[in-house]
Amino acid sequence: MLRLCTAANLPEAHLLLHRLMHAGIEARVLNEHAQGGLGDIPFTHAYPEIWIMEAADAPRAREIVREFERAPLSPDTAQCQACGEFNPQGFEICWSCGKPLSREP
Ligand SMILES: [Zn+2]
Repeated sequence: MLRLCTAANLPEAHLLLHRLMHAGIEARVLNEHAQGGLGDIPFTHAYPEIWIMEAADAPRAREIVREFERAPLSPDTAQCQACGEFNPQGFEICWSCGKPLSREP
């Protein structure tokens, strides 16, 4: 496993994860559950981290991160009707519960 980068927040981490998986790169979000509920952990220790399984994927994965940083997360998010989590624009299913996201017209 290799740590690829640190995301600013959880939706961003999952959006990045989604892109990596789409490119066929096996990746995980660590620190996922460090945010919220643990009031006495400093915020800087709770940023979600993206790790990739294969170090050989790193050059490609870093390219995806660079691309991601060039097009930062849109403030438009879709709230999941099922669990209430906010999902980045472009998600079709909720990252949290896996239900399809319905969009308001
Ligand atoms: Zn949900």
